Amino acid sequence: MYISWTLPNNEGGLYSRIMKFNTKTIHGGQIKEKAYGAVMPPIYQTSTYSQKSPGEHSGYEYSRTQNPTRHALERSIASLENAKYGLAFSSGLSAIDAVMKLFSPGDEIISTNDLYGGSYRLFNKIYAKFGLKFIFTDLRNLKQTEKLVTNKTKLIWVETPTNPMINIIDIKGLSKICKSNNLLLAVDNTFSTPYLQKPMDLGADIIMHSATKFLAGHSDVILGLLALSNDELAEKLYFIQNSSGAICGPMDSFLTLRGIKTLHVRMKRHCENAKVIATFLNNHNKVDKVYWPGFENHLNHDVAKSQMSDYGGMISFTLKGDFELVKKITSSFKVFTLAESLGGVESLVNHPATMTHASIPKEERDKIGIADNLIRLSVGIEDISDLVDDIKQAIN
Ligand SMILES: *Cc1c(COP(=O)(O)O)cnc(C)c1O
Repeated sequence: MYISWTLPNNEGGLYSRIMKFNTKTIHGGQIKEKAYGAVMPPIYQTSTYSQKSPGEHSGYEYSRTQNPTRHALERSIASLENAKYGLAFSSGLSAIDAVMKLFSPGDEIISTNDLYGGSYRLFNKIYAKFGLKFIFTDLRNLKQTEKLVTNKTKLIWVETPTNPMINIIDIKGLSKICKSNNLLLAVDNTFSTPYLQKPMDLGADIIMHSATKFLAGHSDVILGLLALSNDELAEKLYFIQNSSGAICGPMDSFLTLRGIKTLHVRMKRHCENAKVIATFLNNHNKVDKVYWPGFENHLNHDVAKSQMSDYGGMISFTLKGDFELVKKITSSFKVFTLAESLGGVESLVNHPATMTHASIPKEERDKIGIADNLIRLSVGIEDISDLVDDIKQAIN
């Protein structure tokens, strides 16, 4: 069976598998446009396609089901993640939503207790109602995690580095637990991107992205992606994508594809800038703790070193002081913008307890360490001296 959203078996498709990463961001999974030789895939802003005679069509019938611009993006993420299939959705959450629809009432899912707030809300407020059972635990503790597996467990859902505590979870370790207990392993790879971490190579079955963040990278689109290699699972998720219909439009597919072409250059700078800022904060007398996996004393630095190629652009830190001080400081930045989201070219500052993670109850937040004096930075790709100066003036 030929499915148009897999890497095509033409010259471009086969070549995609052997390209190196930086070449893949630009060419991975892409097919030459035959009509006019356009270098970028055209934005096929169409809902439907003409048929020669009833049922005789070009492989494209209706844009919820198939769209060439979306397919170009789907092949790109498959190529980048060393996966066979890619699927694109209207948001990161709708990509997660599609994965949850694989399961039935009574099924159990184990996930990290330090999770993106929106994922937590989707699990606990929507899918729990439909009979899925979620068990949140510290996935860094592999022994404890394996003890939570029952004969109803179907999936482990992991995010690493976690949001906002920047904890590192051992994907390979979890994949061993999943393989020996016949569970699926899904990795939310939003914070790392395939530039830093390739979960498929570490044993993951499903990779999910909020492409809204680093992949699209310019804070101008909301989009979600899945990448996977198992044929049967891909059929099921494609069926869900088409049946539930949470697809992304051609324009957003195009913007994401354009963003991906510079992923490697942007990520390199995100990592370089974050390293300087993490070190600066670590030496500042008004800063209490800095959470960044590049520090040798970070709890899982060794795991980070082995599964990531660098330490990413995300840093969290606590200030010596209460919420009032934090409020004052987070409102005083001039280059950093106080906003939710992350992963764009511009630097952002966020207060998890009142912004991105407000949907998690306070008792839960306290347990995980999302204190009222915790600040999260998404370090952009501006000049590093401007960023450091901005932090200096805001804290002082
Ligand atoms: C933003 C985010 C999501 C949700 O993605 P949307 O595109 O906002 O729907 C999921 N996981 C992580 C880690 C995120 O940062």
